[in-house]
Amino acid sequence: MNKPSIVVLGAGYGGMVTTVKLQKSLGINEADITLVNKHDYHYQTTWLHENAAGTLHHDRTRIAINDVIKLNKVNFVKDTVISINPKENKVRLKNGELSYDYLVIGLGFEAATFGIPGLDEHAFTIGSINRARLIREHIEYNFAMYNNENEPNDARLTIVVGGGGFTGIEFVGELANRVPELCKEYDIDKHKVRIINVEGAPTVLPGFDPDLVEYAMNSLEARGVEFKTGALLKECKADRIIIEKDGKPEEIPTMTTVWAAGVRANSIVEASGFETNRGKIQVREDMRAPDYDNVFVVGDCALVMNEESGRPFPPTAQIAIQMAETVAHNVKSLAAGSGEVERFEPKILGTVASLGHDDAIGVVLNNRKVFGFMATVMKKVIDNRYLLKLGGPGLLVKKGKFNIFY
Ligand code: FAD
Ligand code: NAD
Repeated sequence: MNKPSIVVLGAGYGGMVTTVKLQKSLGINEADITLVNKHDYHYQTTWLHENAAGTLHHDRTRIAINDVIKLNKVNFVKDTVISINPKENKVRLKNGELSYDYLVIGLGFEAATFGIPGLDEHAFTIGSINRARLIREHIEYNFAMYNNENEPNDARLTIVVGGGGFTGIEFVGELANRVPELCKEYDIDKHKVRIINVEGAPTVLPGFDPDLVEYAMNSLEARGVEFKTGALLKECKADRIIIEKDGKPEEIPTMTTVWAAGVRANSIVEASGFETNRGKIQVREDMRAPDYDNVFVVGDCALVMNEESGRPFPPTAQIAIQMAETVAHNVKSLAAGSGEVERFEPKILGTVASLGHDDAIGVVLNNRKVFGFMATVMKKVIDNRYLLKLGGPGLLVKKGKFNIFY
């Protein structure tokens, strides 16, 4: 009898956890499992702001796929997905083509730039190891250049972060810790450096607990971060940005704009002809795509409505991991012939955001607010729990965060 072939696209939180679960639950005689990813490593997207600021080396964030995936059970293909043809059960890769009986789409997110002029050309985004490494290098280059020009250019020392959501806030927190080190290294007066966060809403972290928002702003301002709230980033140029506040334009000279003001699903899903809602595939209760009984979607490419709020659940690693458990269960069940599928029921365990290595804020179970040292410890516990789930104690020891004071 032919074994069913299962193809998983993307080795992010969703794709990796799905694959690990499938490799544990299906024998090699039951199915052929293939994982496709651009790189031969998985990265923890939730640590990329640290790599981008230069407070954590990117090798701590990435995990070799073969450290977690058993290559005698899973066929790993290092390649780039170009398109999916769900009518013919085929995936086109840069270097070939794959056929499947069951497909799991876990291609993650892209920055949403909303057509704002100049962002695609001149702004950086925190979306992968390569992009994070580029931001770190670019900031260091500008600090290094500062004392090498006849006319010192202060725009080299101004870092603008567009968007005061969790990504923007976590990133400026890391920058606030990193800048004093950079100033020491490159002999720069730290008062010359500006870290500016631009947020369109009246406050950063819109919708989050107001006391914790105030705590976060105070903590970051005390370390030199400037906030421009109620200010929309309107245009980005190589050496400046234009924002609009109270209907008035303002120019800020800067050589470094990091755009952290929103994400969308990988555009491959829309371009492949799936029915989409806000660029994502609005999945059925069991995480299958509408119209295709053999296609599952996991992570940021999937849209699941929160019936209580009437809004989609936010794209988070927490939800991607939970989706992966359901997807793996359902794919296994169909591939092994039982046909019983379960519905996805997200359990939001809270949100904890770092404000640098020694401060954080969060709302955890039963709406309990946490901040400061306690919240930083919690953040590390969350990170370490994921490593344990993914690769067991060996991976935790290799990549875990154990220094609670740093
Ligand atoms: P991703 O993690 O984006 O992975 C997608 C994978 O697909 C990657 O390995 C990529 O290389 C691969 N891929 C993409 N395109 C292709 C292609 N064409 N061909 C082959 N492979 C491809 N969420 C939380 O819950 N908690 C947090 O603390 C948190 N912190 C965050 C911090 C930052 C800086 C950012 C940017 C996000 C954070 N999030 C957090 C959100 C979270 O990271 C995402 O929701 C999560 O990464 C989505 O997981 P995913 O599996 O869908 O995709
Ligand atoms: P987001 O969409 O949550 O926030 C983007 C922010 O940018 C918003 O506050 C928005 O008002 C602002 N904005 C949009 N356009 C603007 C403009 N032109 N000028 C100025 N501001 C503008 O995006 P994100 O912060 O990248 O987060 C993406 C997802 O990842 C979310 O689901 C978030 O919860 C998750 N995340 C979670 C954590 C955590 O739990 N610690 C950390 C990072 C990200």
